[in-house]
Parts: sequence; C-alpha cells; structure tokens
Amino acid sequence: MIDVCDIQVMKPLLAEHGFHFSKAKGQNFLIARWVPEQIAERSGVDKHTGVLEIGPGIGPLTQQLALRAGKVCAVELDKRLEPILNQTVGEFDNLEIIWDDVLKQDVAKLVAEKFAGLKPVACANLPYYITSPILTALLEAECFDAVTVMVQKEVAQRIAAKPGTADYSAFTVFCQFYGEPEILFDVPAHCFLPQPKVTSAVIMLKVRKCLPWEILDKATFFRTVRASFAMRRKKLQNGLAAGFPELGKEGAGEVIAACGFSENVRGETLDIAQFAALANAIYRRKQQ
Ligand code: SAM
Repeated sequence: MIDVCDIQVMKPLLAEHGFHFSKAKGQNFLIARWVPEQIAERSGVDKHTGVLEIGPGIGPLTQQLALRAGKVCAVELDKRLEPILNQTVGEFDNLEIIWDDVLKQDVAKLVAEKFAGLKPVACANLPYYITSPILTALLEAECFDAVTVMVQKEVAQRIAAKPGTADYSAFTVFCQFYGEPEILFDVPAHCFLPQPKVTSAVIMLKVRKCLPWEILDKATFFRTVRASFAMRRKKLQNGLAAGFPELGKEGAGEVIAACGFSENVRGETLDIAQFAALANAIYRRKQQ
C-alpha cells in the first residue's frame, strides 16, 4: 500500500499527475499517518460497517477505512484526483468512489442502496468551507449510527458546547438534537499540506436512536431554537416575538411563563429539554 502521507511519496505523486491544490475545494491533505489511522480506529469501523467518506482526496483516510470496513463509499468532487486514487486505493475491492458533489447526493438513499446488511457510519476529513451544510445533510439523513469528522477546532467546540457558554449556538442544538458529541483529539496544522491557518479536531457524534425529549413538531422546535439565538444579547421574549410574529411580545411572554422560565431568561442558557418544552408550548398554543 502506498504511504500517501509520506511527503516524499506524495509530492512526486501529485507532480506526476500535474495536480495542484484547490483552495476553493478545501483541499488540505493529511501528511501525518497517525491522523487517518486514529480517525479510522476511533470511529469504531469494522467488517460489519459500511462507511460513507466525504472527500477522499488522494486516499489517506480511505486506505485506513477500507482496511477495516465491510464497505467504503467515498464521494469526491474533484475528478482530477481519479488517476491518483486509482494508484493509491485501486487495490481495495470493498471501495466504491462516487464522483459528485456530496451536497447533491440523497444521502439516505445512497446509504440504503450501498450498505444493505451493514452498520452505516460517516467518516471524513471535511472540506472546511462546507462543514455545516455537510454535517446538516449527514445528520438530517437519519441513517447513520455515528458521524466522525475532522473539522476546525472551533467548530468542534461549538458542536460540543454546553448551554450558557459563548460557543453554544443554534448549530450546537441542531447537532446535539441528533447526536451525542465527543471531541476525540486535536490535529495541529502541521499535519496537513498545505497547512491551514487553524488547529483542527476530530469529533464523533453518536447518533441518537430515540430522542430523550418529547417533540410535538420538529419544524416548530427548530424555529424556536433559531428565534432564541437570533438576538443573543436580548431577552428570550424579544427573540421569540421576532421569530414568531403571530405570537407577539405578549404571547411570547405568556409562553415563557407557562414553561416556568424567568421573564428575563436568555435563549442561550436553555438546554435542549427546555427548548423542547418551549417549542411544545408554542405549538400547542397555535393548535388552539
Ligand atoms: N481525505 C483527504 C485527506 O484527509 O487528506 C482530503 C481531505 S480535504 C480536507 C477535503 C476533500 O473534499 C478534498 O479532496 C476535496 O476535493 C473534497 N471536496 C470538496 N468539496 C466537496 C464536495 N462538495 N463534495 C465532495 N467532496 C468534496
């Protein structure tokens, strides 16, 4: 197996194919072998697992996943990588590469088609310019057991943030609604070529099999969350009134009181159970 993380191997390989990194496609390739090894190891991939990888690049993580998994499907946007991947991962018969923009894929359908009888997981060193849309698509597909991704460290901290902290956001609640996050390890910038300006981190989301909260209406829940964070420095009442004009300020106050929250409460201090209570109260009121 070609060691694509060895810079003495990688540089001639890229030169042979006249490949130049595309910043626009978020191409920062791994040059430290322990990183893809650890990502594959810690993501719990084994022979019973079907892995969806996003952005294989020249294949460092793909190799490690294909060595362990029952099947790997890797979705890559950049067709220039095809002859290189043929050389670096062509030997694996449990690997399929799909040449497409992952955001154009129907992820749930792909997983159902490709991973019958296997435990589906997602694993990737994500292109950072589309971290949020990709994570959103992976979680909303509701078909994975776990999602393990490398992202900018600050994004990992936002995903795993606790209520009331500066990192806690609507995206935190979205991610934690679908999964339980665990930051696995940091990856310094010198582990990539070209080097990004930021430190990265690998985060795993264990996808919830059933929700520990009663949610009457998912759309109202996420609308409530967005409204609650839209005016971070203002009282929750103002955010809710702006996000639900049909409630008005008075109605927003009544809903907040009905949930037993202080009238001065701020949205960013609520945990998911409290957002669920708030969203359910709004939903019930609209049904009356
Ligand atoms: N996995 C490789 C590694 O760890 O060295 C490459 C990771 S690099 C950060 C991100 C990869 O995602 C690149 O290969 C890039 O071409 C690919 N990519 C970017 N946008 C994409 C998209 N919309 N759909 C699929 N792949 C994409």
